[in-house]
Amino acid sequence: MRVVRATVIVTSPGRNFVTLKLTTEDGITGLGDATVNGRELAVAAYLRDHVCPLLIGMDAHRIEHIWHYLYRGAYWRRGPITMAAIAAVDTALWDIKGKVAGLPVYQLLGGASRDGITVYGHANGETVAEVIDQVAGYVDRGYQAVRVQCAVPGVAGTYGVAKTPGRPYEPADGRDRPTETVWSTERYLDFVPGMIAAVRNRFGPELRLLHDVHHRLTPIEAARLGKSLEPAALYWLEDPTPAELQDSFRLIRRHTTTPIAVGEVFNTLWDCEQLIREQLVDFIRASVVHAGGITHLRRIFSYAELYQVRTASHGATDLSPVCMSAALHLDLAVPNFGLQEYMPHTPETDAVFPHGYHFADGYLHPSEEPGLGVEIDEKLAARYPYDPAYLPVALLADGTIHHW
Ligand SMILES: [Mg+2]
Repeated sequence: MRVVRATVIVTSPGRNFVTLKLTTEDGITGLGDATVNGRELAVAAYLRDHVCPLLIGMDAHRIEHIWHYLYRGAYWRRGPITMAAIAAVDTALWDIKGKVAGLPVYQLLGGASRDGITVYGHANGETVAEVIDQVAGYVDRGYQAVRVQCAVPGVAGTYGVAKTPGRPYEPADGRDRPTETVWSTERYLDFVPGMIAAVRNRFGPELRLLHDVHHRLTPIEAARLGKSLEPAALYWLEDPTPAELQDSFRLIRRHTTTPIAVGEVFNTLWDCEQLIREQLVDFIRASVVHAGGITHLRRIFSYAELYQVRTASHGATDLSPVCMSAALHLDLAVPNFGLQEYMPHTPETDAVFPHGYHFADGYLHPSEEPGLGVEIDEKLAARYPYDPAYLPVALLADGTIHHW
């Protein structure tokens, strides 16, 4: 079953998405997400110029072989652009295999290990009262887990807080340069424990509460925060410090029992191998699109299972519904599933990517259609051309660039 066409579709129905569409000689199509937030056109060019021509004539059934052909064959391994391009091919091939088999992809991965996917929503606000209101909204809708982020008094443009009240948090800005935000670790560390304690006191012990530090702290600052949050019994503290230096998580572990989740920016198992092997983290947040597709993310999850590290895939709106569909099939199948991030897309995005996954009774459920259960309306997609947008940068008060 040869691949006869490989098309890259860039569309911006509210934000930019890069999608790979593969077509086989018998007319079966498969989709893969290749979106890297703020660097979309680099992946589109990587696919168009260097990957799509190689795929023509290949046997679409040989998923594992094609993965290694693109990974080893490029010689230049890893990195977000390469791995997102490989992910798109891999995801599209799983979609095709499911359609040929007449089965949803989770059935090809071993079948369902659970009845539905527990997800968490994003509660954020300018004040603690606004955050509590938003958490209450999620609880009313049946959510069992909520991430809480609040504007820090005296800090302009705190990460995770929506610019427009009532709209989903979307950091990427439609301009030709990144927005500059100012960061204060001192004000943040002073404010956050009280904010989270207020939410915990209001909702009781059962609701899973999460908080994202977004790489802003040093290891010892993160250790101090984790320790101060222990009474609030967070489900996890996310990305407490940048993870290039995996050793730094030993220092955090030495001081706090607050569970740690990391990895939304990871591209391969080698970004988290030590973190998992030494049990320095509790949840691994790598995603299908940024970590080499279903084939490689399944490998990361299997490795994590050996060390009782659970899965917690990134699922913000910078991943298209194609990636979300793929994530749900993997989440349903793996034994060590933990929690899935879920931010609904805009109606414009949902219209471009019609999909069958849905939220019901507190859980997300993947489509039961053969394959991934997501398509792309190419005519509609063409009505939303690429719109330059960048993630913000963070600076300290003296102008020093900090981690965003
Ligand atoms: Mg995060």
